[in-house]
Amino acid sequence: MTFVELDRIRALQESGVFKTKDLTNIRYRDKDFPVVSFSLGEDNKSLPTLGIFAGVHGLEKIGTHVVLDFLESIAEQWRWNQAMKKFFQETRLISIPMINPTGVYYNQRSNYNHVDLMRNAPVEALDKTPGLVGGQTISSSLPWYRGNPEEMELENQAVVEFCEKELFPAQFAMSIDVHSGFGLRDRLWYPYAKTKENFPFHHESENFAKLFNKAHPHNIYKIEPQSQSYVTHGDLWDYLFDRHHSQYGDSKLYLPWCLEMGSWLWVKKNPRQLFSALGAFNPIKPHRYRRIMRRHKPLFRFMLESTHSYKVLKNEPIIA
Ligand SMILES: [Zn+2]
Repeated sequence: MTFVELDRIRALQESGVFKTKDLTNIRYRDKDFPVVSFSLGEDNKSLPTLGIFAGVHGLEKIGTHVVLDFLESIAEQWRWNQAMKKFFQETRLISIPMINPTGVYYNQRSNYNHVDLMRNAPVEALDKTPGLVGGQTISSSLPWYRGNPEEMELENQAVVEFCEKELFPAQFAMSIDVHSGFGLRDRLWYPYAKTKENFPFHHESENFAKLFNKAHPHNIYKIEPQSQSYVTHGDLWDYLFDRHHSQYGDSKLYLPWCLEMGSWLWVKKNPRQLFSALGAFNPIKPHRYRRIMRRHKPLFRFMLESTHSYKVLKNEPIIA
């Protein structure tokens, strides 16, 4: 069986544009499944940094494709685009485009241990969760299985270690983790998933939303805290945010976003998708696939640019 996503990741590594590392390797059924990271920009890790992540849920491989498409576009322009090179002297970009390679390869939401990596972090929900969906420890044969949050799965350990090394030292940090599968609209979620209480940088997130909506008035996103949709245990970004905030308090801003691409819209337009090999969470038709690839680039660029000029999110004067 071919592994298109890993082939694309290897090609990106070979482009020589990014610093890249196999953070961990999962050996499963005599095959290697590396979790690969990329970083672009100066070595100075205090520079404002954007992290782009995908492939936590293996079924939602369209997210990995969206992120790879973005990284490939940068790699393609690197040879000649002087403005881009200059930009990355002042801002860093880091990425793990496929956090759950076994899930992506086998077309399943969970990893090879049947653990849902987005329910696996040691975070207990403070508000009521919607039954199994919120994360369960009953059985690995049921979905949304949390595994052992006290000893996170290898993939999550790799993400946490990578973020602590590459994202936490930044004077400003933002991240986006790309998912698909919920609802009819593309939602851009900020924390928390564990509670309906406001997270400490609620105002800065709302500021981001305001600026984005002003700059892109026809955009497609519904921007809100994840808990507006549902509350869960074990959210990886809740965990990373709380870890960051317990280290730095309000002195350093970190905004972790999740993009939940509304794939029920694709299903509604093409019910056959429900029965396709890729499952419901990936658009099949070529024109629709291409539209998804184009659709989120303005958001990623805006995130990069607002990471560079992050003081605007704190209503502080921008000094050139
Ligand atoms: Zn997901």
